[in-house]
Amino acid sequence: MPTKLFDAIVVGTGAGGGTAMKILCEAGLSVCAINSGPRINPSKDYKLHRQVYDLKYRGYGNPLRFAGKAHQEPYSVEESEYSEGADIFEHDVAYSNEPGTDWYWKRCKATGGKANFWGRSSARHGDIDYKAADLDGFGENWPVDYAEVAPWFTKAERYMGVASTVQNRPSNPDGEYLPPMPWRCIDYIIQKGAEKIGVPYVPDRCAQLTKTHNGHPACHYCGNCSRGCDLGAFFSPTWFTIPEAEATKNLTLLTNALVRSVLVDETGMARGVAYVDRTTKREIEVYAKVLVLAASCVETAHIMLNSKSRHWPTGIANSSGQLGKNLCDHLYGCPGYGYLPQLLGQPATPDNIADSTVAWMPRWQNLKNPREEKFIRGYSMYMGGGCGEFPGHYGRLEGFGSEFKRNIKRYYPTPVGALIQAPSLPSETNYVDIDPEKKDIFGIPQLRFHFRWGQNELLMWEHSKQVMIDLFKAMGAEMWGADDEPNRPGTSLHETGVCRFGNDPKTSVTNKWAQTHDVKNLYICDASIFPNPTDKTTTMPIVAYTMRTCDSLLNNFKQGLHKRA
Ligand SMILES: Cc1cc2nc3c(=O)[nH]c(=O)nc-3n(C[C@H](O)[C@H](O)[C@H](O)COP(=O)(O)OP(=O)(O)OC[C@H]3O[C@@H](n4cnc5c(N)ncnc54)[C@H](O)[C@@H]3O)c2cc1C
Ligand code: SF4
Repeated sequence: MPTKLFDAIVVGTGAGGGTAMKILCEAGLSVCAINSGPRINPSKDYKLHRQVYDLKYRGYGNPLRFAGKAHQEPYSVEESEYSEGADIFEHDVAYSNEPGTDWYWKRCKATGGKANFWGRSSARHGDIDYKAADLDGFGENWPVDYAEVAPWFTKAERYMGVASTVQNRPSNPDGEYLPPMPWRCIDYIIQKGAEKIGVPYVPDRCAQLTKTHNGHPACHYCGNCSRGCDLGAFFSPTWFTIPEAEATKNLTLLTNALVRSVLVDETGMARGVAYVDRTTKREIEVYAKVLVLAASCVETAHIMLNSKSRHWPTGIANSSGQLGKNLCDHLYGCPGYGYLPQLLGQPATPDNIADSTVAWMPRWQNLKNPREEKFIRGYSMYMGGGCGEFPGHYGRLEGFGSEFKRNIKRYYPTPVGALIQAPSLPSETNYVDIDPEKKDIFGIPQLRFHFRWGQNELLMWEHSKQVMIDLFKAMGAEMWGADDEPNRPGTSLHETGVCRFGNDPKTSVTNKWAQTHDVKNLYICDASIFPNPTDKTTTMPIVAYTMRTCDSLLNNFKQGLHKRA
């Protein structure tokens, strides 16, 4: 490729990178976006509207599909026989876990990243999150307050289209919403039970289009979302930001280009990136005046830790020593599942309309007094069940033959179960670094994880199990069981913290605009800047903060801090 100098390079085309490249292209900058995997093609790569029994391996996938791959672990939910053969997920680049610790690193390498398949839950953070350290004395506040971020949440919601209602809840600031998703039959029963035990059950904030929005069609509730939407009826870079960036003609999009490190000039500022072309295995350099890293939280830290030079001996922009530290995640798991006997024998009408989070239980703990419970902060929960497209409850029933089949049908409308979303707290023992020995098949030093759940989130997990016992009683439901252990760390895909932002360059990697303290032309647009997860999910905030960061970046061009190419 001829050596061209761009105004900006954006690494990653997911929720963060896609938004950054759209804004920068629309502002007239020449942008080179670099994506580690291939371009996704919805009409070929999304295989929707089929039953698992129509698939060759009944949904379990070809048992030999990972033969010869460096990382052979299958990923959950998003990777299935429905996406097989499309080379969408990362199995060429391996990673390691420090013995005795664990992380399940699921990566989508195609353009658009994980938001091709995401769950779309999209709540705003609030000051209860940003000022949590003031309230309970743990850790540090975020370097922003709600009033300054709120307009960016509004911009993100207006752009993405988020369905919900105004709820006036103390932990969940309200936003601007499309009409809410219609509820399932089970939601009304759960809501009544939840009311009896004093737990809120309200429409989730869901980035799914309940009506046409900004030229995108309304959802027709086929329930196939986690296999990718063939209409573009929920926010994803594939249908939103990427075509809009391309329409400006200011975008050069490189695919199958795995960035290994940031290149620096003689003063230690960023001057471009080095990437490996996956098809030729050649290493290539691209140059720009400004660099935006949006490779998805831990991968952004991986690239930065691998960017060592005489100026940055421990990784670029790491004078604080905080790069790779403070790794956090949402603890996920099922604290209770069972069925609603009152629905036994009811007709099975498909009502799992969105395959998603129609309603949720937003944080209700520690609201009046930050230390009311045995744990600090709080968690949220989602309830699943009803007539899904596939009767997943078959595994909970015993038997065989025609009676077993009859029973599956009988119980079809009845199953109900919970998913807890509990934020971990930053801990000195949870971090990523570069494996001193292992390199991936492209010769790039691998990332190594050190992570264990902490006591605070495990107390939330125990608490949620008791809540489920109470809720099942209040709903008149019968409990079949609960997970013995929470899911593996990494499962939620809401990791944060490894490039945290802050006002003090000694304790944070970037300033409050996500511009690294040390390298003024290096910006970060993913959840790695968030110091910790909250009880809310990360993607709508990634989009909102990216809009805010790009505004500041463009302003820095206007002020002369950055020069055009
Ligand atoms: C099934 C599922 C359900 C989810 N549910 C929710 C939800 O309800 N709410 C919510 O908020 N979030 C949810 N998420 C998480 C959400 O998808 C992510 O938070 C979000 O997509 C992250 O966006 P990102 O741009 O930071 O990263 P990604 O989407 O991972 O994008 C990163 C991009 O960078 C590229 N890249 C990576 N490494 C390199 C490299 N070295 N060189 C070049 N390019 C690179 C990748 O190809 C990719 O395009 C869910 C995810 C899944 C899969
Ligand atoms: S339910 Fe709606 S958003 Fe989901 S795949 Fe179907 S049309 Fe798309």
